[in-house]
Amino acid sequence: MSSGKVAYLTFDDGPSENTRKILRVLKSFGVRATFFVVGSDTAEGRSLYKEIDAAGHALGNHSYSHEYNRIYKSPEAFMKDVHKLDQLLEETVGYRPDILRFPGGSNNHLSWKPGGKGIMSKVARAVKVEGYQYFDWNVSSTDAAAPVQDRDMIIDAVTSASRGKKSIIVLMHDSTYKTTTLEALPIVIGKLQAAGFRFDKLNKSSFTFQFLTP
Ligand SMILES: [Zn+2]
Repeated sequence: MSSGKVAYLTFDDGPSENTRKILRVLKSFGVRATFFVVGSDTAEGRSLYKEIDAAGHALGNHSYSHEYNRIYKSPEAFMKDVHKLDQLLEETVGYRPDILRFPGGSNNHLSWKPGGKGIMSKVARAVKVEGYQYFDWNVSSTDAAAPVQDRDMIIDAVTSASRGKKSIIVLMHDSTYKTTTLEALPIVIGKLQAAGFRFDKLNKSSFTFQFLTP
């Protein structure tokens, strides 16, 4: 019965107006996922962090501000922003995540302008030293490739990129305007299940996939 294949669904950039809808879909399939969240210090934002946590999903740090020009100036600037989100999460859900995803991924080039060409290696080392594990992805849903990506493109991208892989980390977005991600989600889950994947949430010692190794 078990094929040993594992899918880690990940949602970046939330919480958003779609968070509850995503949670509803995940619940209907009994699937756990990982939310790499940013800072949302409002009553609604705080409540959404709690709902993600209470539903049994993992929360990961995706920086507080998600502003490349601020966070990628230096490792110190990056860690300061990460700690700001840690603090907000500790106040709301009671813990500081030890899993992290870099805005843009660990090999993004947008960081070069504020921080210089070697900035991502320095930042990656800094997060490791502080005990965080970081996760890029080996399956992109392509939902960030267009403001509103075609629903079937998302489904096809996940299905074809997951073929032949045993462990997959799927990049998706929890963002108010990403309505097709939500529409694609139940179909994506169904197709991955049919392909023999079980679902899990990430933790520090999970399978990881890193574009850049520090
Ligand atoms: Zn992001």
